[in-house]
Order: sequence, then C-alpha cells, then structure tokens
Amino acid sequence: MVEKKVVIIGGGVAGAILAKTIQHQANVTLIDPKEYFEIPWASLRGLVEPSFAERTVINHREYFKKGDLVVSTAVNITETEVFTEDGNQISYDYLVIATGHTEPIPKTRGERLDQYKGENAKIKSANSILIVGGGPTGVELAAEIAVDFPDKKVTIVHKGSRLLEYIGPKASRKTLKWLKSKKVDVKLEQSVDLNSFTEENRTYQTSNGETIEAIIHFLCIGKPLGSAWLRETLLKDDLDADGRIKVDEHLRVKGRSNIFAIGDITDVKEIKQGVYAQGHAQLVAKNLKLLIEGAGKERKLGTYKAQPPISIVSLGRKHGVAQFPFMTVIGRFPGMIKSGDLFVGKTRKELGLEPNLKKS
Ligand SMILES: Cc1cc2nc3c(=O)[nH]c(=O)nc-3n(C[C@H](O)[C@H](O)[C@H](O)COP(=O)(O)OP(=O)(O)OC[C@H]3O[C@@H](n4cnc5c(N)ncnc54)[C@H](O)[C@@H]3O)c2cc1C
Repeated sequence: MVEKKVVIIGGGVAGAILAKTIQHQANVTLIDPKEYFEIPWASLRGLVEPSFAERTVINHREYFKKGDLVVSTAVNITETEVFTEDGNQISYDYLVIATGHTEPIPKTRGERLDQYKGENAKIKSANSILIVGGGPTGVELAAEIAVDFPDKKVTIVHKGSRLLEYIGPKASRKTLKWLKSKKVDVKLEQSVDLNSFTEENRTYQTSNGETIEAIIHFLCIGKPLGSAWLRETLLKDDLDADGRIKVDEHLRVKGRSNIFAIGDITDVKEIKQGVYAQGHAQLVAKNLKLLIEGAGKERKLGTYKAQPPISIVSLGRKHGVAQFPFMTVIGRFPGMIKSGDLFVGKTRKELGLEPNLKKS
C-alpha cells in the first residue's frame, strides 16, 4: 500500500513531538528553518551556563530518523503542496501547521551553541545589564542572572503595569517582591529608547525620562507569531485578528478535512504553553492515524478540550512561581518542579532520547 504523505511545517515543541510520534505510520516530511529542535523553556539557562545547551539543542535527526527533513522556511501552500524558500515543492495528503513563533536563530546546532558561548561571555564581562520586557522570558532571564551573578546590576523595564501579565496579578506581585529581594530593579509602565545608548555614557533613556546604566541589553519582548506567511495563502481567511489559525474541535483548520494546526499558532482558548502544544500533537497523531487507516474511522476522531491556566516560571536554579487554577505559589516548591533541570530530561525522554548525554 502506498504510504500517505504527511507534511509538518515547524519543528518546535509541537512539530517535533508529532514528527517523532508518526514517523513510522506515514511518509512524513518535517520542514523547519533550522537543523535542530530547541527546548524553549531551557534557553535562558544556556545564557548563564552555555554547556547546559548541549542537552537542549537537539538535531532533528536524533529523534526523527525515518522521514524527510527539509531545512528551510515554508512560504506558500496550496490544496496539495507546500512551497519552501529554498525552492522545494512538497506534496501532501495531510498537512499540519505548527509554526508557533519565529525568531532569527542560527541554522546549525554548532552555530547555536557558539551563540550561547558568545552571549555568556557578554554577560560575564558586563557589570550592569538591562532587560527589556517583563514577560516570562524577561523575568526568567533576570532571575538566572541575579542568582548566578549576584554582583551584577540587573534592571527590567516593562511597558505593562505588572510583570507576567499572561497569568494572574498574584503571581506578578510575588515575582516582583522576589526580584526586588535579589536586587533586580524593576521599572513598570515605561519603555526604553534603545537608540539613546552611547558607548561613552553607557546609559539608556526611558519614556519617563529615567536614565538606566547598562553595558548590554537583552530584548525579551516576545517573538512574532509564525503565521504572517499564511496571509497570502489559501488559509488567509482562516486567521483570527491576532493571526492565530482558527481550528475545530479535532484541531483541523476550520472547514478543512486534511489540514491541521497545533501549538501556539492555534486559536484554542488557553494560555500558550509547550505542555499543551505537546497535547495538541499527541491528539493530532491519533487523528492522523485514524484518517490514514480510513474505513469509516473518521467518525472516531478525538476532540481537544482547552486546558486550565497552569504555568510555572522559573526564578533561578531553585525557586519558581507557579499559577494553578485555584492557587499561586512562589518559592522552593515550584522551583523543585521546574527550575533545577527545567524539564530537559523529561522533554528529551518524550522525544525518545536519553535524558543525559553520554560522556565521550
Ligand atoms: C522563557 C519561556 C519559558 C517557557 N516555559 C514554559 C514551561 O515551563 N512550560 C511550558 O509548557 N511552556 C513554556 N513556555 C511556552 C512554550 O515554549 C511554547 O508554548 C511552545 O514553544 C509552543 O510550541 P509550538 O511548537 O507551538 O511553537 P514553537 O516552539 O515556537 O515552534 C515553532 C517552530 O516553527 C518554526 N517555523 C516558524 N515559521 C516557519 C515557517 N514558515 N516554515 C517552517 N518552520 C517555521 C520555528 O522555527 C520553530 O521551530 C515557555 C516559553 C518561554 C519563551
């Protein structure tokens, strides 16, 4: 029997798990602009401890051994084909869009690991550091630096009225208090003029007219959604006002029988978390299997239920702040769940890999 062709666009949290799970059940092609999958929630530890990234930057070929890998960016789709920037034209029976967020990062694992070493050297040589943005990335980075390099002056400037606006105000208050206890200076409701930096003064100006001393800065203002390219395709009318893909209860693009979307790119009404993106991938793996098997199994397609807002933000190596549906907790308990290994061993195992690298 001729194998059905499944094309997955995006090798992030959702796309990687899906590719790993269905590689033996179909003729699978994974399209991603880089040769590797990277565990996003561990990336900030890599900035303070570059060797940590050895386990978190994983070549796609380590977990996706059977199918085809196209290292390029998808630029267009039709009812039957995907077109990539490097000129590939790949036909599909089933398409899964998992393009979450985009960010310009290097193509090869080696280049990415070198980038971590370079950023770490910059942090080590700077005694004052500005972090622009007080979402999860800005907060986790500030905490990593404050814990590993307590003598450095760290400042967060955030446009909003509270940190971590994607979760509840209690988590914001507790996090602010924790950061202050680590001598991180947090400036809310302000923006920074990055062009105001001069080498001689080594200062930045904020919208409130404050001057911040900092040798380097990190921009942590959230990455753009990976759906802009879809605006010129047959799915142009399937995006909501935020640019997320509208999906049905089976995670198929609304009104389409053979195109799915999973992960942060979907309009599922839940906070955007990798653990939920993995859940989408597992459901779509099952649904694809049913569709591929055919013989009326389409009626049995699984449905997705939006998840409650649960999130843990790490605060350095031992602490964290967790939001559960009826409770917000800060300190060692959430730290024990996330902040030591940052779920790296767990995520590697989910991809069928050893949690730790073998010593060479
Ligand atoms: C600092 C931080 C901490 C976090 N902590 C947690 C946590 O503790 N727990 C948790 O569950 N979640 C956490 N998250 C959220 C989690 O990382 C995201 O929800 C998750 O990455 C979403 O997965 P995704 O596959 O939808 O998208 P992504 O992981 O963003 O992957 C998208 C992929 O698509 C590729 N792509 C984009 N456009 C194209 C294109 N046109 N063609 C081909 N490929 C394309 C990208 O290169 C990328 O590889 C955290 C996020 C951050 C930033």
